[in-house]
Amino acid sequence: MNELELLVDLHRDAERQGPGGDEETRLSVSLSGLSTGEGLKIADIGCGTGAATRVLAEDLGASVTAVDFLPEFLAELSAAAEQAGLDGRIETLAASMDALPFEEQSLDAIWSEGAIYNMGFRKGVESWRRFLKPGGILAVSELTWLTDERPAELQQHWEKQYAEVDTASAKMRILEENGYSPIGYFALPERCWLDNYYRPMQQRFADFLARNAHSTAAQEIVSAEEFEIALYERYSAYVGYGYYVARRTRD
Ligand code: SAH
Repeated sequence: MNELELLVDLHRDAERQGPGGDEETRLSVSLSGLSTGEGLKIADIGCGTGAATRVLAEDLGASVTAVDFLPEFLAELSAAAEQAGLDGRIETLAASMDALPFEEQSLDAIWSEGAIYNMGFRKGVESWRRFLKPGGILAVSELTWLTDERPAELQQHWEKQYAEVDTASAKMRILEENGYSPIGYFALPERCWLDNYYRPMQQRFADFLARNAHSTAAQEIVSAEEFEIALYERYSAYVGYGYYVARRTRD
């Protein structure tokens, strides 16, 4: 297996592929001001196996297009949607987030949890705007510095992993510069990282390594995750995911 196949193998059975929580998705929905009964059309970009997709379809009664470039995750999502009786409201789309096939001004909202970093926050918010109806909602979670200053070890690690990591005020400025009006912000609580993401992942490591005959590549993936987990445990006061809810301006 190559590295991408190994990552799919590690994450496909998971409830989520990044930090998050159903309650926090609901909080973002509440901040968006959207309500049920409006026949909403929403895209969930970088949906993974669809934890947020299901909340959006269920709580808003929306038609949700779940987009990811990995068909293996979309297959899990479809099965879970069917089991929850939500398959009539959720459709999957295998596409890359930097080449989306939506029509201009066709969506009431775009959600994206823990995924926009794959194309970069600035490029993502800039290029997705045209798909939103005027006044439409963008809701994204994104790696964020929680304080003005932080330990050098932490800063170096994340700047190497993701050059755009920044403070909430800097992210909101990018939203404003790209034709959005920020309407809500919160930071994901620690349990979204630890209870919902890292601990379940750690429980999958042993089987993952066994399935892959303890290959060097599999061990390297586990070591990198363990390093990141230890870093988060030490420095969770300084770094987290910010959840940004913004409205497309009307021009
Ligand atoms: N939103 C989900 C998954 C977050 S992990 C959750 O919170 O659980 C990031 C997701 O983005 C993965 O599912 C990955 O397959 C997807 N992804 C990465 N690069 C992508 C790209 N270029 N286009 C579409 N999806 C991408």
